[in-house]
Amino acid sequence: MAKRLVVLPGDGIGIEIVAEAEKVIQCLKDNYALNITVESGLVGGSAYDATGTPLPEETLRLVKSADAILLGAVGGYQWEALDIAVRPEKGLLGLRKELELFANLRPAMLYEELAHASSLKPELVSNLNIMIVRELTGGIYFGQPRGIRQLDNAEREGFNTLVYKESEIERIAHVAFDIAGKRNKKLCSVDKANVLEATELWREIVTDIAQSYPDVELSHMYVDNAAMQLVREPKQFDVILTTNMFGDILSDCAAMLTGSIGMLASASMNANGQGMYEPIHGSAPDIAGQNKANPLATILSVAMMLRYSLAETALADKVELAVKKVLAKGLRTADIHTPDCQLLTTSEMGDAVVAALIEIN
Ligand code: NAD
Repeated sequence: MAKRLVVLPGDGIGIEIVAEAEKVIQCLKDNYALNITVESGLVGGSAYDATGTPLPEETLRLVKSADAILLGAVGGYQWEALDIAVRPEKGLLGLRKELELFANLRPAMLYEELAHASSLKPELVSNLNIMIVRELTGGIYFGQPRGIRQLDNAEREGFNTLVYKESEIERIAHVAFDIAGKRNKKLCSVDKANVLEATELWREIVTDIAQSYPDVELSHMYVDNAAMQLVREPKQFDVILTTNMFGDILSDCAAMLTGSIGMLASASMNANGQGMYEPIHGSAPDIAGQNKANPLATILSVAMMLRYSLAETALADKVELAVKKVLAKGLRTADIHTPDCQLLTTSEMGDAVVAALIEIN
């Protein structure tokens, strides 16, 4: 039976990069018998403009019954003044919450051809391959109570709550141990257990769960040290497991080690294997509509989707190989361009990946 994919281009460059990913999916249907149907929906600022909400009911209905979701990005200057409840980012947070996408997988992989783009010395990053497993539906981004309140002395106070249940820690820890078991068997759990009780519990639960994974070597690190170690000696890490907010920050830091934010994919999974796949970058309003954005992170998100939600590992390998071939040919979008390479537009890069995929066949 055909699998159901819902694409949500979102805002800004999301629209341009998802169009290129769709070309790749069409190529897989035409040349590799990928059995998939593709529907599309609105999310973010464009959804707000059309319906008054960043996450319309129709979109929720579509995604709930999908096997996988491919998202571009949301946000833009024109929606920044909106009330926080209807800002584009609420659409994204709502999708994660509604679908219970609690496990966010963010690989930080360095393509040798792009080693020069890293902010670190090549010897520190060559062959870098880290997987960050970030808890995505709990912690301080969702904890209650939250808000801004008026105090008696006429000043206001902003407050948020960091809260984790045992069950939330257990399920994300299992995901991380499973992934580490299939990689280099090293898991580093990152917390701030010396200061925050919620992460003291995190450390205790992760330590308990480690007993079920004797082949995985577990270590613990405070988040401030982890940030330092990521830029000092990133190759010491294999899999990093961490909370929602720490993962948000550390994964962006790890992303930059690899050169361009336009190269990195991510997956957000729930307990049923349903996943939402998206590039880690935002809607890049500064270059939106200019056919300049790098679509490779979105195309690599398609590869993750094939691997984790559609059980099409061989096709996932082919998409990743096609991206490698394109880079090896010296084809580059502006964000990763160097004078010795050929500069491509967003759509030319999508076409180049499609051509490489056909060549591999
Ligand atoms: P951003 O990731 O959109 O852009 C940061 C910088 O990276 C910009 O200079 C941009 O031009 C560049 N960039 C990003 N993706 C690129 C690509 N594919 N190719 C080439 N260059 C690329 O982050 P920002 O500027 O902090 O945020 C812009 C908007 O995106 C905001 O509204 C923010 O809320 C939103 N945002 C959305 C998501 C998401 O949808 N998942 C994530 C982060 C930010």
